[in-house]
Amino acid sequence: MRTLITGGAGFIGSHLSEYLLRQGDHVTVLDDLSTGSLHNLRDVAGHERLTFVEGSILDRSKVREAIAGADRVFHLAAAVGVRRIVDHPLESLRTNLHGTEIVLDAAREVNAIMLLASTSEVYGKNTSDRLTEESDRILGSPLKSRWTYAAAKGIDEAFASAYWHTYGLRTVIVRMFNTIGPRQTGAYGMVVPNLVGQALRDEPLTVFGDGLQTRCFSYVGDVVPALVRLCEEPSAYGEAFNLGGDLEVSILRLAEVAIELLGSRSTITLVPYAQAYGPGFEDMRRRVPDNTKAERLVGYRPTTRLEQMILNVAASQSAAEGPRDTDLTT
Ligand code: UDP
Repeated sequence: MRTLITGGAGFIGSHLSEYLLRQGDHVTVLDDLSTGSLHNLRDVAGHERLTFVEGSILDRSKVREAIAGADRVFHLAAAVGVRRIVDHPLESLRTNLHGTEIVLDAAREVNAIMLLASTSEVYGKNTSDRLTEESDRILGSPLKSRWTYAAAKGIDEAFASAYWHTYGLRTVIVRMFNTIGPRQTGAYGMVVPNLVGQALRDEPLTVFGDGLQTRCFSYVGDVVPALVRLCEEPSAYGEAFNLGGDLEVSILRLAEVAIELLGSRSTITLVPYAQAYGPGFEDMRRRVPDNTKAERLVGYRPTTRLEQMILNVAASQSAAEGPRDTDLTT
């Protein structure tokens, strides 16, 4: 298999690159290194089946160069992170809309299977007590910068679906729910690397709002094999799949567990949303995936426990040259 990974030097992309190289693929990584870094690929640097192309998904000729000969594309490149989206809504729209269309066009030219990395953000302000199924959606206002990402990714999904229905391009949509693990940076707002870093430095842990909002964190080592299996399953074409964790935890509890587990002397500070992200910010109160669809089709089942995820993230931040992620090497 010849595989292109856009955003392959990012957090999830670098784990996927390693996984596919271990499987024997020829892997090309296209990354503009805006939020990703070559350091993330250090364990596979110089690999004979790895090609790195530096460039943006907005650069059509770079995308064409990188995709030449590819059988499949994992389109992970995007402007991500609530902090970054709130600060740079235009960048998010341009990269996530125009860039995806360019990648879809290029995939069509070489008839590659195309997996679109989407997000649980597309569920918007879903506050229901039910588990979130693939068909649920409550849009946030496009005038609130937080929802820019959700709006763009929602349209990306519509594009992927339309390429499937119009051209027969084999597309698979995957909505990832708070994927975490080694190499994820807290710089763009992600809560786990943020809180773990604060705990390791014995600084106060910043919990936004009342801390009772919940998430189901999933581990990159569980998610990556499922991405690959979904791409290999013809009945996945034109469909969307949730991939999330199975433990619902409040952010306050997450902070307590991190402090306990890491033997930190930190305390917890509640920070009002307006102070964290600016006035009028809207959070998602509850975000719980229904993973049944991916479980039925490719046997997806999250197995890594929250405590293990936190320890692996902490090890990644502590180690001078970064950790070997043992879960991924098994
Ligand atoms: N959060 C927090 N402290 C932080 C960063 C985030 O309490 O330092 C909260 C955030 O408001 C949200 C949850 O943690 O309720 C998850 O945030 P993240 O940005 O990781 O993901 P998302 O909001 O997309 O689920």
